[in-house]
Amino acid sequence: MPYRFSMGILLWVSFFAACKSPQPGLPGLAEEPRKARNVILLIGDGMALPQVSAALYSNNNKLNLEQFSIIGFHKPSSASDLITDSAAGATAFACGVKTYNGAIGMTKDTLPCFTILEELDALGYATGLVATSTIVHATPAAFVAHQPLRVFYEAIAADFLKTDLDLAIGGGKRYFDRREEDERDLVKELQQKGYIVSDYFREELNQITSVSKRPFFYFTADKHPLTHAAGRDYLPYATDFALSFLRRRSDKGFFLMIEGSQIDWGGHSNDGGLAVDETLDFDEAVGQVLKFAKKDGETLVLVTGDHESGGLALNPGSRMNDLHLAFTTNGHTAALVPVFAYGPSAELFAGIYENTEIYFKMKQALGLAQETTSSSE
Ligand code: MG
Ligand code: ZN
Repeated sequence: MPYRFSMGILLWVSFFAACKSPQPGLPGLAEEPRKARNVILLIGDGMALPQVSAALYSNNNKLNLEQFSIIGFHKPSSASDLITDSAAGATAFACGVKTYNGAIGMTKDTLPCFTILEELDALGYATGLVATSTIVHATPAAFVAHQPLRVFYEAIAADFLKTDLDLAIGGGKRYFDRREEDERDLVKELQQKGYIVSDYFREELNQITSVSKRPFFYFTADKHPLTHAAGRDYLPYATDFALSFLRRRSDKGFFLMIEGSQIDWGGHSNDGGLAVDETLDFDEAVGQVLKFAKKDGETLVLVTGDHESGGLALNPGSRMNDLHLAFTTNGHTAALVPVFAYGPSAELFAGIYENTEIYFKMKQALGLAQETTSSSE
């Protein structure tokens, strides 16, 4: 009977198909983690568990961060101090080296270190930086600049001309076009290099139709942008803009760093409301990125902080949406910092490890772990 015959064939075919698939659980045959095509690193400056907890309990017990299932912790110390600053913290992520507090993209011997952004750019990836501080501030700076001290803002701005960064969105226009240390007009120089340069004076970011044919630089403020509470609202939109821009910019993939810069300032000023509000704004960007990554399927998303800020405590008497926040310092603290990972190779980020491991794990996730392109230890 033809029906029986075809059933027999089907059984044989499925038997062989079963034999061909590798047997799970055998030593040495463990499946390689899936490689990522894009990496998006979101850094909440000054965001560790207290800031995440305070934002969660100030937002009806809900955060986009809860969508992550792979979670780890990094040890945020620097080469010079148990308590890192943002410059050494970002350099650890960018280069995989522990350096001294204040160093921007430099080793502890003040040698420039090749950053993951520069490495990926050289390999043909599209690259971008988005921040809610000036774009020359420590966290974004450490991915493209190489300066012995974080306060060399004009020198850091000049370093942006030495990269082929595809997209930058952040404040700090005055360090580019009204410089005090020289007569250079870096906005003009960026344009001569092929960039479309715009700013908040000229047009709102959401009025710009993203043209990915030319690299794009957008200034959101002359110095630091406002706090979110005072009206700064571009982070979620800039996130979407950057994602659609970078996706079309290279066939190879892209690297994007997005910073919630001002969470840290809530710690420094012992302003719990500011820390919470900035963390919630950052969490909204996290939500946008996750939406993109879930649809895309080839994007590794990492969310972490560089260090805790303020020694924030959720004190007794706190209730849902009514927290009694207190601080132990107006500086940073040494607490472990959570790392949330989603997407291909996310499992690499479970566990407890040094902050420098984030760099090596990102490269492993991209399938670039073997290439030793780092110019330093
Ligand atoms: Mg920062
Ligand atoms: Zn700080």
